[in-house]
Amino acid sequence: MCFQLFNVAEVALDLPIQGTLTYKLPGWMLERVKPGCVVRVPLRKKQALGVVLQVYQVRQELQELKEVLELLDEEPLFSDVELRWYSWAARYYMHPLGRVLSTALRPMLPFLARARTGKEGDCLTGEEPCFAPPFALTSHQSKALEQIVPAVCQDRFEAFLLWGVTGSGKTEVYLRAAQAAMECGKQALVLVPEISLTHQLVREFKSRFGECVAVLHSRLSKGGRAAVWEGVRQGGFPLVLGARSAVFAPCRKLGLIIVDEEHDSAYKHEEGFRYNARDLALMRGKLSPCPVLLGSATPSMETYCNARQGRFRMLRLPERVGGGSLPKTQIVDLRRSFKAGGKRCVISPPLEEAMRQTLERGEQVLLFLNRRGFATFLLCPDCGHVFKCNNCEVVLVHHLSDAALRCHYCGWRIRALPVCPGCNGTNISDLGVGTEALELEVKERFPEARVVRMDRDTTARKHAQREMLASWRKGEADILIGTQMVAKGHHVPNVTLVGVILADTSLNLPDFRASERTFQLLLQVAGRAGRGERSGKVILQTYNPEHPAVIFSAGEDYESFAWRELALRREAGYPPFKHLALIRISGPREETTSQAASILKHTASTVCLQPGPVQWIGPSPAPISRIKGRSRWQLLLKSSSRKELHRSTALIMEEARKKLPQRVILSVDIDPQSFL
Ligand SMILES: [Zn+2]
Ligand SMILES: [Zn+2]
Repeated sequence: MCFQLFNVAEVALDLPIQGTLTYKLPGWMLERVKPGCVVRVPLRKKQALGVVLQVYQVRQELQELKEVLELLDEEPLFSDVELRWYSWAARYYMHPLGRVLSTALRPMLPFLARARTGKEGDCLTGEEPCFAPPFALTSHQSKALEQIVPAVCQDRFEAFLLWGVTGSGKTEVYLRAAQAAMECGKQALVLVPEISLTHQLVREFKSRFGECVAVLHSRLSKGGRAAVWEGVRQGGFPLVLGARSAVFAPCRKLGLIIVDEEHDSAYKHEEGFRYNARDLALMRGKLSPCPVLLGSATPSMETYCNARQGRFRMLRLPERVGGGSLPKTQIVDLRRSFKAGGKRCVISPPLEEAMRQTLERGEQVLLFLNRRGFATFLLCPDCGHVFKCNNCEVVLVHHLSDAALRCHYCGWRIRALPVCPGCNGTNISDLGVGTEALELEVKERFPEARVVRMDRDTTARKHAQREMLASWRKGEADILIGTQMVAKGHHVPNVTLVGVILADTSLNLPDFRASERTFQLLLQVAGRAGRGERSGKVILQTYNPEHPAVIFSAGEDYESFAWRELALRREAGYPPFKHLALIRISGPREETTSQAASILKHTASTVCLQPGPVQWIGPSPAPISRIKGRSRWQLLLKSSSRKELHRSTALIMEEARKKLPQRVILSVDIDPQSFL
C-alpha cells in the first residue's frame, strides 16, 4: 500500500495568535520555497503575507488546507540564524512569532513589492571602506581592544562590558572594534539609545567610515528605509548604526554588535512586542555567533552583575583621555536653604553665586531640570521625608482624587496626611517646578545673560533642537536650561558649571529602579561640566542629601553605589536577583477593568500556589491609571527561576484570556522597565 505525500508549509502571519498556520504548496513552488521565504497566502476572505518557517510532507491530503498563492522572492528574506533568533524572541517575550517577524519584515516590504514588479530598486551600496589615519590609543583602550578584536576575527560569541567614565574614550574603542570587523569582511551593528541625542557619535562614525555607514533613523521615508535595509542585507553597508529597532537590521555577515549606553531605558520598546534591544543583541550575538560589546559609564545593575559573576568580560577605562580631571560636585541641601530663605527658591544661594562667577569668567552654565516621568510623590521640604511602601520599597504615588498615597506594586494605600511623620512639619508638598518657571527666575536674577530653554515645547519645531545645540556650542548663549535631552553626549568645552535644580524628581518615581536611574542621570549630566582644559563644577540641589544616589554620584563612585543598590535589590527581591513579568490589563470602563483585575487575581492564586517558586503581587491600578480613555491595572510576577516565571506567566495569560470580558485587553511585559 502506498500513501500519496503532500507538501505543506508552516507559515507565520502578522496576527494576534500564538501559533502558526499550515498551507499546501503547489507543485511548482516546492523546489523554490525555503524557510525564511515570504509568501502570499489566503486568509479568510483576504490575503496576507507570511514567513515560511518550514516545509514538510504529510501523508494525507487535508481537505481544508488552503494553498500558498505566491512566492515573493526565491532568496529567503530571513536566514536560519535570524529565524532561530526571532523564534527565541517570540517565546521569551511571549509575543506571536508572526508579529515579531513582521517587525523586521515591514521595513523591507516596499522593496519586496518593487522587486516583484521587476523594477530596479534604488539600492544604496557603500564604497570601499576608507579609514582615517588612526591616532594613539591609551593603554586602557589598547588592552580593551586586545580582548575584543580576536573574538571579532574568530566569529566567537562573547559579551564584553566596556565600562568607562565619561570622556574615557569609549567611542574610539567602538570605532577600532568596528574597523576590525570590517577588515575581516564582516558587518558591525551599532546601537544607540536615540539617534537625535547622539549626533556626535554618528558624526564620528561617519567621518571615520564615510559612505560605509548606514544610519537607520526615524526620519527616513518608507522607501528610503527599505532601500537602506536592502543595502544592509546585500552587504553593501559594512557598518549599520541606529536606535533600538536597528537590532533587527538584516546584516548577513554580522561580525560585531555594539550597544552604546547599554543601561538606557530607551532600548526597551514599550508597546506591542515589548523587547529590550540590548538583550536581543546579546542573543543575536550568541546565535550568529559574534561578540557583543556593551558600553556604559554607569552599567545597569543586571549587566554589572553579569560582569562581576564572569558571564560578561569586564573591560575598564578608568581615566579620562588626556588626563582631564573629573568635575567637582557640591551638594546643596535644599531643606536648609528653604529654612534660611523663608520662601522656597528654585535657585539656591550657592548655585546663584557659582553662576555669577562662571558668567563673569565668560564661561557657560547648564541648568538641568530633572523631569523624568511625572511627579506625583509628596515630600516634606523641612526634613526630606518621602512616603514609601513598607512591603515593596517603592515610593507611594499621590492620588489627588481620593487624597490617598498608593503603592503601585502591591496596592497598599494610606491617607495623605498634612503632617510629616518625620518632623511634624506642615509644609508637605509635591514640588512642582517647570522649565518655564525656572527660566523666569534665571532671567530675573541674571537680566544680562543670554538664556536658552530646551524642552519638549521649544524643540517641537523640526531641527529646532539641533539649531539650539549648535548655537550653544558656538557660545551664542550663556545659560542653557533643559531637561533630559541636554544630559546626553554634547561636549561643549566652555561649559564649566552644571546646576542640577532638583535631584529628587526621578528619585521618587514609583519604580524600584528609581535610585539607579537617578544615579545614572546625575553622573551623565555631571559629565557635561569641564570637558575641555578648564575643570568643571557641578552643583546638585536636593532635599535628600544623604541618599546614596546623590552621595555616590557626587563622588563618581559607581562601585559603592552598585554595592549598596545590589544589597537592597537582593533583600527586596528585584532584578538581577529575581526576574519580573508584568501582566497588564486595560479596559474602557473602570468597573469592568477592576472586575477583570479580580479575575486575574483569582487566576494567579490558582496558578502560583504559595509558597512556591513564583510570587505574585497585586493587581493594583497602574500609576497612570487612565491612558487614552482606558483604565489600567497591573499584576507583577517575580521568580528567581526564569523557567518557572515563564511557565506561570504563560498559564495565567492563557487562563485569564478565557475568562476576561471581551473588551478588556491583556498584555505581558517580560523584564519590565517601566511601571507607569
Ligand atoms: Zn518632615
Ligand atoms: Zn507595596
